[in-house]
Amino acid sequence: MGSLGGGAGAMVGLPALDVALAFPQATPASLFPPAVSDYYQFDDLLTDEEKALRQKVRGIMEKEIAPIMAQYWEKAEFPFHAIPKLATLGLAAGITKGYGCPGLSLTANAISTAEVARVDASCSTFILVHASLVMPTIDLCGSEAQKQKYLPSLAQFKTLGCWALTEPDYGSDASSLRTAATKVPGGWHLDGQKRWIGNSTFADMLIILARNADTNQLNGFIVKKGVPGLKSTKMENKIGLRMVQNGDIILNKVFVPEEDRLPGINSFQDINKVLAISRVMVVWQPIGISMGVFDMCHRYLKERNQFGAPLAAFQLKQEKLVRMLGNIQAMVLVGWRLCKLYESGKMTRGQSALGKAWTSRMAREVVSLGRELLGGNGILADFLVAKAFCDLEPIFSYEGTYEINSLVTGREITGVASFKHAMSAKSRL
Ligand SMILES: Cc1cc2nc3c(=O)[nH]c(=O)nc-3n(C[C@H](O)[C@H](O)[C@H](O)COP(=O)(O)OP(=O)(O)OC[C@H]3O[C@@H](n4cnc5c(N)ncnc54)[C@H](O)[C@@H]3O)c2cc1C
Repeated sequence: MGSLGGGAGAMVGLPALDVALAFPQATPASLFPPAVSDYYQFDDLLTDEEKALRQKVRGIMEKEIAPIMAQYWEKAEFPFHAIPKLATLGLAAGITKGYGCPGLSLTANAISTAEVARVDASCSTFILVHASLVMPTIDLCGSEAQKQKYLPSLAQFKTLGCWALTEPDYGSDASSLRTAATKVPGGWHLDGQKRWIGNSTFADMLIILARNADTNQLNGFIVKKGVPGLKSTKMENKIGLRMVQNGDIILNKVFVPEEDRLPGINSFQDINKVLAISRVMVVWQPIGISMGVFDMCHRYLKERNQFGAPLAAFQLKQEKLVRMLGNIQAMVLVGWRLCKLYESGKMTRGQSALGKAWTSRMAREVVSLGRELLGGNGILADFLVAKAFCDLEPIFSYEGTYEINSLVTGREITGVASFKHAMSAKSRL
């Protein structure tokens, strides 16, 4: 009887078969399917440079990340050894120009975001936090000395960043955050907590947003990895974006020298220009995820036979596939138009909020249909769709939840803000 207790479970059974051997009838996503979702020839709207970048990102992601993603997703670990490969995508600096940064157009950055997310949404979030939150914060809100000091190495992933706004008690209501910045000789003391902060368990530098104890306004600080009083602990048990390392951060009298306070952040409004960029990028994540799911389902249905015919031959299957394809065409055009509105300086907060809310909602239908199309394999990460299905859920909720983004647009089109309940205290910012 003793042999049945403790470690006996580890001796029962054999290791799982390689999925390609166990299920030879359909190719797993480690060998990524061809891109076939560009039905309305979106490529025609892109410049030659944008098309070339799209192809390059697609090729690197399919070759370098697709073979390892299910394994790392399952282990909830980040593939640090792949960072040099991700650096070759040329996306670490986002749209930042100068200081060793290539300065992509917003459109180029957006379609690249989709190409990364098409293969793996965790990698896309890892890049997005760094390139579209950290980089623009330093570029738009940093001093000249900070830009010269930090941007060149960040631009090549030689150093990695994270961006900390959310707190345990302040998620959607982030403008009420409580982390305190107190002036002390030569700098500042930061005290408080942050939650959900992507890349924070390993980032070399953390952008911490805190409330100035004197002015009560928002300030921003660059905090270095390993400084006394700083602790970031990995959040466990996520069902989506499992490769992304989200951290719970505790700041206990963390000293930040004056030279590391970001001079351009003096109110919540000052970070809205950063969020305008990151939100457009997040719009393109559900688009990319949907493209990957469509590609996978398209191949799978032609390879898998039931009732003596490929699944692709059945009407019910075709209708689902076409519904997915229609969603993708519409999402791409909305995302593209947002890029053009941003690039011409006309994009409003309501427009970007609608883009984020709507694409994440449409993508939910795409991944849900994809999950149905694959039957049992629709719940296996090896065939991409289950992983994508789960990865979309955190995206539905971050960078403003679906509801909050809808309310931002609602405020813009009605002139009436509906966020605050009559029961809530007045906002402090
Ligand atoms: C995977 C992941 C990565 C993240 N990365 C980062 C990061 O790098 N940096 C960072 O700062 N933050 C990050 N976040 C935090 C993210 O921005 C928050 O989760 C998000 O803002 C929502 O906050 P919350 O989770 O506390 O939900 P809550 O604010 O508690 O909301 C819970 C629910 O109530 C709804 N709700 C809230 N208020 C209203 C209202 N007024 N009217 C109607 N509905 C309402 C919401 O829509 C939601 O459905 C990340 C989150 C996730 C899941």
